[in-house]
Amino acid sequence: MDQYSWLVRKKAELSAALGKPVTWDDFARHIDIEPRALKNYRLPESSSNHRTLSKTIRGLIELRVEIQSAASQSTSPKQHDGQLSSHPSGGKEANAPLSFNGDQLLLFRLAGLLVRHCAFTLEADTVVSGISNFAGSNLGLLGEERRTLSELSRLALRSGRPDVFAEIHQVVYLATTPCGQWLDFMDINSLGLGDLPLIDPQTMTPTEACSALASNCKDASTLYEEALFREFLGILEEFPRKKSHMIYTKVREFVIRHPMVTPIDLNKLSFAPKVANFIHDHFYEPYCSDHVGSQTIKICNHCGSEVKSGPYGLACSLRACAESQSESYNETDVKDGLRRASLGIQRFWINPGFDEVRLFDALKEAGVDQLELFPERDMTDISVGGYEIGIDLKSHGSPEVLGHALKDSIKGLSGFKSKIICIPDRLVRRNEGYLQTVKEISGRRDILVMSVSQTKHHLLELRAGGGC
Ligand SMILES: [Zn+2]
Repeated sequence: MDQYSWLVRKKAELSAALGKPVTWDDFARHIDIEPRALKNYRLPESSSNHRTLSKTIRGLIELRVEIQSAASQSTSPKQHDGQLSSHPSGGKEANAPLSFNGDQLLLFRLAGLLVRHCAFTLEADTVVSGISNFAGSNLGLLGEERRTLSELSRLALRSGRPDVFAEIHQVVYLATTPCGQWLDFMDINSLGLGDLPLIDPQTMTPTEACSALASNCKDASTLYEEALFREFLGILEEFPRKKSHMIYTKVREFVIRHPMVTPIDLNKLSFAPKVANFIHDHFYEPYCSDHVGSQTIKICNHCGSEVKSGPYGLACSLRACAESQSESYNETDVKDGLRRASLGIQRFWINPGFDEVRLFDALKEAGVDQLELFPERDMTDISVGGYEIGIDLKSHGSPEVLGHALKDSIKGLSGFKSKIICIPDRLVRRNEGYLQTVKEISGRRDILVMSVSQTKHHLLELRAGGGC
């Protein structure tokens, strides 16, 4: 497709997202490009004034159009017209559209904003800034994000609370504290957010609850992550199907078990050079910039992550590990070429993976046969006996958020005969009603919701009865 046709297509997509035809000048304004510059991009290649779109500008145009499409979908009338039910949906269709109240929609947008800024500040090394967004830069706030903060300011002031939303740095800081401390003028209890922060104070990455909320409002960072994983899956496509699944599982398991690596560790993988190079360049980053001057590093004995000082003292930087294991580390010299998992990988693979691989190891040790980790390229977390049993481990801090997500879809788990949603014991110990809340809100009768220890017990009983 030539450049002009590509721009015409993007303009048509923006028109569809806005629900009205847009002119070339409107289009230029939406994608933050000077109308005169856009004119040069539209000229035929034979013209002396023709300019070629760089990969970066193309990417930014894609992002702007996709963000507008996502924003239009999240504010579509069908999602505004009802209250979120806190009762089981009974025979409601699994993929029926959800309806949310205004507070909940605003929380989705706030979570989307936090996820986007964490991605750009921590993963792309730019800074959080309250200035206006301009062409070619991800630095400032988008118009949609400014509207989100001003709506929060308005609601706070109306409730007689101080306006703490005018300054993005303060909002990011407050997001590391439980929602009940700074968003209590909103309907946070229907989503079970009272005791939960939206940003993990230890790693400064969005929590599972924040990511789940943000997934209702697709944002730039999600698109950025999706592009990275799409590229990885694209490399796997070059291998025969079965082998590509095997490589996927091996890579993912390796990364989860190795939050920090040296070149020697990576060489042990013995993958095709293309796969090995991608892992080295995209899944890990050099360990250095923020540790200048320190010759030693504290490595957690449970998970291999770095143990760091945080607001609550010295703790493993992997939240799931810090919450469930006693502190234990070795202090060693920083090795040459040491690399750490990039924050995107920590968020999407390592944090949730901590519980997944431990459950896998425990089932294996207990003698459960025909186990597979991340079968069929992540159809679910663990399968037992092929398609007989699928186990999806969920570590959401909020059972309400998880219940709503399951009501919408159980994704790859639907392909298994018996479907288990498995919750880490520490979450069930902290909230006795956790499993029941998930069952009630999801309203699903086709899944079993169990703790990790219940799952182990269930599978061992099945094995004893000849079931697996
Ligand atoms: Zn750890």
